Amino acid sequence: MAAPPFLASRPEGPGFGVYVHVPFCARRCDYCAFATWDDRLQLVPDYCAAVRAEIARAVGEEMPLATSVFFGGGTPSLLPPDQLVAILDAIPRGEGSEVTVECNPEHAEPSRLGAWRRAGVTRVSLGVQSLSTSVLDSLGRRHDPGSVRWAARALGDAGLGGSYSVDLIFGAVGERPADWQATVAGVLALDPPPAHVSAYGLIAEPGTPLGSDPARHPDADDQADKYLAVDAALASAGYSWYEISNWSRPGATCRHNQLYWAQGEYRGFGCAAHSHRLAGGGGARRWWNVRTPERYIRLVGRGDDPAGGEELLGPDVRAVEALELGLRTSEGVAVAEVPSAGQLGLLLDLGLVSLSRGEGAGERVRLTLRGRLLATEVTLRLLG
Ligand code: SF4
Repeated sequence: MAAPPFLASRPEGPGFGVYVHVPFCARRCDYCAFATWDDRLQLVPDYCAAVRAEIARAVGEEMPLATSVFFGGGTPSLLPPDQLVAILDAIPRGEGSEVTVECNPEHAEPSRLGAWRRAGVTRVSLGVQSLSTSVLDSLGRRHDPGSVRWAARALGDAGLGGSYSVDLIFGAVGERPADWQATVAGVLALDPPPAHVSAYGLIAEPGTPLGSDPARHPDADDQADKYLAVDAALASAGYSWYEISNWSRPGATCRHNQLYWAQGEYRGFGCAAHSHRLAGGGGARRWWNVRTPERYIRLVGRGDDPAGGEELLGPDVRAVEALELGLRTSEGVAVAEVPSAGQLGLLLDLGLVSLSRGEGAGERVRLTLRGRLLATEVTLRLLG
């Protein structure tokens, strides 16, 4: 089976990832379009049993050992620790596998973190979003910024202080530049500081309360300024960007997300979870489970496949995705794989990309800082 060009240009395979979707939240945030519900906690035991059953079936079909596992959602930290641990125990993992759990700051209790750690959790991703109470209010989120400092200390005490990540969101209406700077500075001053930071521009997703309120839609110029501010602050604190929205200390990148960006193989469990397997001839199959937890529990419970849809990706589609995903990373893409290399001169003149030798042979094209602000436009140009 021929690997697509982007994969072939990498020194090692990206591994095999497992994603577990936890579709429960205590309260729905105004901007959220994820498959999650805040009124169905009574389903947790049946849902967890169904996830374990789906995993057992996949293991029976010879699922590879996972090199990374990611519990996302939703709010995985809402699960009772023994339920999350039982799911993790059901997933066959390779030596040294990375295991990440998304966690709300107020859930970082020592007993929960201790149970996770003993079960093999190696990374915690804290959903901080902002350290400004008024910004959190405008995002419809409820946590006390003080709980973030408490959570960081608890992570340090639990032995997870050297690998944890913080998720931030910028660009809410009413967020002053000073609010954003204070959030970033406050995150960098945590004790211990995070090893990894993800910072996303707020998106007004259709169908959300934020999306249907134009007065609260983010401003592109404001978001660009805030992106430049976070990049500068993180760079001067020793964090390197390795994907447009992700920065890390040396050795602290998220291998699970890198696997997605490298078009690697992964298996998703739970409602709305996506899976991806390579197929012959340079193609791949992507499929996803039904969206609601009720339907998922019902299908798995009666021994049916919970898949709700699929798409087959030919080599051409995969090559386009390889460019879109690869260009967002600091590795960039091989010039030889760019369909419209004739555009490179213009993009170089505009200071949006740079050319350099990567590892091994071949010149690579990478986004500059300015290019990161206009990644979609640059990608479209390079696709021709
Ligand atoms: S906590 Fe996260 S998943 Fe849950 S509603 Fe808020 S943004 Fe969505």
